[in-house]
Amino acid sequence: MHPSSIVPLLIGAISLTLSPVLSAAANVVKAQGSAEQGFKLDPIAPPAINDAAAKAVFTLVDGAKDEASGELSVLNDGKVPTGASQPASNFIFDLGTPGGRIAADLGELVPVKSVVTYSWHGGICGPQVYKLYAANGRSKDFDPAPKRGVDPTKFGWVLLANVDTRPEKGEVGGQHAAEINNKGSRSLGDYRYLLFDVERPSESGPKANTFFSEIDVISARGPEIERLNPEAKIVREYKSKDGKYRYIIISTEAPDLTEWSEKELVPVILEWYPKLVELLPSKGYRAPDVVTFEYKRGIGPPAYAAGNRITMKTEFYQDQLTGEAKGCTVHEMGHVVQNYWRANQTNRKPKETPGWVTEGICDYIRWFLFEPKSRGAGLGKDRADSAKYSDSYRVTGNFIDWVVTEKDEGLLQKLNAVAREGDYEEKLWKEWTGKTLEELGEEWKTAIKRGKREQ
Ligand SMILES: [Zn+2]
Repeated sequence: MHPSSIVPLLIGAISLTLSPVLSAAANVVKAQGSAEQGFKLDPIAPPAINDAAAKAVFTLVDGAKDEASGELSVLNDGKVPTGASQPASNFIFDLGTPGGRIAADLGELVPVKSVVTYSWHGGICGPQVYKLYAANGRSKDFDPAPKRGVDPTKFGWVLLANVDTRPEKGEVGGQHAAEINNKGSRSLGDYRYLLFDVERPSESGPKANTFFSEIDVISARGPEIERLNPEAKIVREYKSKDGKYRYIIISTEAPDLTEWSEKELVPVILEWYPKLVELLPSKGYRAPDVVTFEYKRGIGPPAYAAGNRITMKTEFYQDQLTGEAKGCTVHEMGHVVQNYWRANQTNRKPKETPGWVTEGICDYIRWFLFEPKSRGAGLGKDRADSAKYSDSYRVTGNFIDWVVTEKDEGLLQKLNAVAREGDYEEKLWKEWTGKTLEELGEEWKTAIKRGKREQ
């Protein structure tokens, strides 16, 4: 993070106008965080929720919105993006154009203590460059929407500040904030209208316009300001339709995955957790009815399950949103439902279920029932010699699918029930199918050789 700097701006030019607030001398306080830090950009406070801009009406006076941009209402919704590149959670002028003008009508005269603007982008669209004008709307030649090329100070506006948060050196991207205030506790003046004349933050190089995340207007009259809490945990809870199961998703370490989880992952969880419970029943067994999913950074495997808790590697999920993320979650939910750890409590002399059985079951469900179209567990003819039923994961998944299809459609349930009770033994394969595990393995390899296990 760059040290914040305070840039006093004395607006001498204003003294030439007839405005009653000529003497306003605004400070611009700048702050930048080079990465994600929840807009905790000391000395500027995090965005306010109940500020005077919350009820303001923002309008586009000049310029065009970028097609990826959110609506102007994102500027005062009290919310900020959860990631460095979320255009829809920001207001952005058309990247190919040189900015534009935005007006805000606060609805009434407000003793404006400060105006604070927040932006976030990982690169050149992070910094803010704009002029802020204000008006009380009472001057008889007042123009509420002066286009570019028109000097607002000739139409009832005063220039409050020139803002430029571009760092002199170092990283330009990250979270930026600019606070325009009056030194001490005095207000900037009584205003109803604000006008932001926004410039593009980079003249050279690729097209750019600032990703504006939030604009706050703090009134000297109060109320006491409530702010976004950057340290807050991000926890969302979902219930199955029948109210039987609850799912808790903690994305504190992956705020940018909060929306994806809700829109994309939760539907999969809602559909597939109960399905897994149905696929893996056993006498007297009740699967956990609360499952917690938590994103963690920097863990080893893509995901793992312990008890009724699934830990998901943030970086893996970020990378695999349209790839493995959902299937991986289904696999881990399989482990939560399997609950094979419980055999140690329910069985006085539990037999150990081989890891390849446990993993093979979850991958069988994942690749053959959840996402058969991905054909992720197919085995080509060339694998006939090297594949072994006990290779675990998707190879065992393929083997289980073959046994279920060719020998015993109830195999999954039988295998699961004995594993869960600590009663797994190799000889059971013969009881269920009439063939030993080795014989089954050989027959399955023959099927691979004939090209029948390509999925
Ligand atoms: Zn697993």
